[in-house]
This record gives sequence, C-alpha cells and structure tokens, in this order.
Amino acid sequence: MKQTDMEKKKKRILLLGATGSIGTQTLDVIAQHPDQFELVGVAANGSKDKLEQIIKRFDTIKAAALVKEEKDRELSGVPLYTGQKALIDLMDHVDYDLPVNAVVGFAGLEPSLHALRQGKDLALANKESLVCGGDLVLKELEKSGRHLYPIDSEHSAIWQCLSGNDPKRVEKLLITASGGSLRDLKRDELDDITPERALKHPNWNMGARITIDSATMVNKAFEVIEAHYLFGVPFEKIETVLHPQSIIHSMVEYDDHAIMAQLGSADMRLPIQYALFEGKRDVLKEEHPLDFHQALSLEFRPMDFERYPMAAFAWKTGEKKGNYGCAFNAADEQAVSLFLNRQISFLQIEELIERALEQLDYIEHPTYEDLVETDRRIREKVRALARPDENR
Ligand code: MG
Repeated sequence: MKQTDMEKKKKRILLLGATGSIGTQTLDVIAQHPDQFELVGVAANGSKDKLEQIIKRFDTIKAAALVKEEKDRELSGVPLYTGQKALIDLMDHVDYDLPVNAVVGFAGLEPSLHALRQGKDLALANKESLVCGGDLVLKELEKSGRHLYPIDSEHSAIWQCLSGNDPKRVEKLLITASGGSLRDLKRDELDDITPERALKHPNWNMGARITIDSATMVNKAFEVIEAHYLFGVPFEKIETVLHPQSIIHSMVEYDDHAIMAQLGSADMRLPIQYALFEGKRDVLKEEHPLDFHQALSLEFRPMDFERYPMAAFAWKTGEKKGNYGCAFNAADEQAVSLFLNRQISFLQIEELIERALEQLDYIEHPTYEDLVETDRRIREKVRALARPDENR
C-alpha cells in the first residue's frame, strides 16, 4: 500500500465534550493509536483553558468550539466557534469521519441529529440523545443508513455479547447496576446526604451528574431506554440486575438460555475504543486489567424497585414514549443541579421528578422543537416546585 493510501485511512475524529470524563479518556484512546485516528475538531461547554491544552497537545486539530460566549475567534492558532450554535458550526466547518458525542445532557441531542443528517456514523456517549429523542434519532438513522456505536459500558458489553450471534434469538438483555455511591444506606438514611458523599462512587470515576444519577438509579433507567433504541429490543425483554462489583458490564440471554457476559475492569477506555474501531478489537494499554491471580467474587441481586423507585421509570417511559423521556431527563437534569447546589435534599430529586412528570403536557409525536420546549418547561416546573412558597 502506498504511503498516501495509508494516510488516507486514518479516521478523522470530531470530539464533542472533549474536557469531560469521557472526552478526556477518548483523547487517551486517540493518543494510543496515532496511526489509526486523527483528532480534527474539539468542543467543550465552558472549560476554555482545558480546551486550549488539548489543542496544544494534538497538532492535528483544525478548529474548536466553546458553547460559552466568547469574544475570541481563535484559540491557540485554530478557529474557535462560540455560543449556542458552536457545536453545529464546528460540525459544518471541519471535515471529519466519525463524531464522538460526549456532551452531557439534553444539549447533546441536536449534534447527534446533525451528525446523522450529515451522513456520518455516530459514536454516542450522550445518553440523552436516545432518552429524549430516541424516535427522532431512529428516524434519521433509517434515512441515512448510518450506524450508532454506543459508548456506555453496559451497551458496549451488550454489543460485544451480541457479536457472532443471531439477534433474533435474543431472549433478554440483562443490564448490570453497581447500586451507586449510596448503596449501603437504607432509604430512611438518605435524606441528609451531602453532594460530597453522593459523589463518591465505589467502582467508577465519572462526571458529577452521572454519579448522582447512579445513586438514584436514574442512570440505569436511562440505560434501559438507550438499550431499547440501540438494539431494537422491546422494553419487556430488558432487565436490570444489581451486581455490586461492576465486573460484568452487562449480559445477553438467548432463547436457548445461554447467557453471554462481558467482563473487565471499570475502565471506560475499552467501550470508547471499541466504538472508535466500530466494533473491532485492537490493543489497549490498560494499567489494571482484571487479574484472576487475585480472589474475585461476583454477586447478583434482583433490582430493588422500592429502594430505587427511579429504576422503574424506564418502563414507564417505554409505555408512554412521546415527550415523556425528554421530560424525565429534564426533570432529572434540573433536580440534580439543584441538589449539587445544595438547594434541595437528595430524596427531593426523586420527588421533584415524579411531581414534574405528573404535570407534563404530553405530546405523542414530538418534533425536535417540541422537545426543546418540553425541556424548558419541565426545568422551570422543577425549579418552581423546589421553592416551598410556590409549591402549589
Ligand atoms: Mg453506564
């Protein structure tokens, strides 16, 4: 093969959410495979300094974006797009092959839809794209014939367990859940939990919102919804299982009752790399791979829906669809932010989500604009419900 052909084969990556936990680990994977990947564009929400460091570290970057308003039109020698449309501007102005969407929250839906409309495959770490806009994303996927590559340990595990098997033979998807940072506490011990305490996850080192979402099990509800859209499996064939060690990242049961599981250490770089390679294996330098020279144990318990009532909202969302998932996410995003700012207690997160969803103006077939409006209204509702004087 000629040198130029070799160079052409490098996959040009556009990384949205470059400064967060998944973004940082994606940079690591790209840096481990300089012959395979070329980072051409990066975007962040507000961390300008971190973004600048990334541009200095990867000299292949052609442009960058910062959602926070900025006067500068350049950062470290490359064009900088800023403001609400920054991500879309970046996607329109940089030639790339594969976008990695690691944006946190509802804000990730628009770039996901945009990438598919641009005819790209999508490596997706932004759960909200599917939780809020699953039907819209599926429609774009159908139109474009492109693929989604999940970056979530559970969905990557399921993807790996499906490999080489007939998807029509799937009996059940079994999504494992560690139980989160507060799993050793009973419900009546949860009320005076501080954000610092709730942010200490026993197994995974992740961003703030997802760590709180793991403690409430909202994250697991989101992952059930994600799995439904990613693998086309009906909600009644998806189960959650408590597995405190986070060694099995999820499982697939077939109709002969063989169960395939994917095991590994709690390192997000594998799911990231597996997505970047579009479902192929390659070397990953990992400091702490699973080591069977040490004693290991695997425990499983059925999901406890009384301890974790939010987990059940996955199936409620599955029943309702429409703008329900979007509202569920909006209520959670807002409530978690209020909790992290010490404006509400831990258990109020659940209470506000339930109350806000009771008051949802339901739309059966929402457009993207309907979802934006739902997102805005539900956040407003949660803020109002959080203020005791306006509680009625
Ligand atoms: Mg996960």
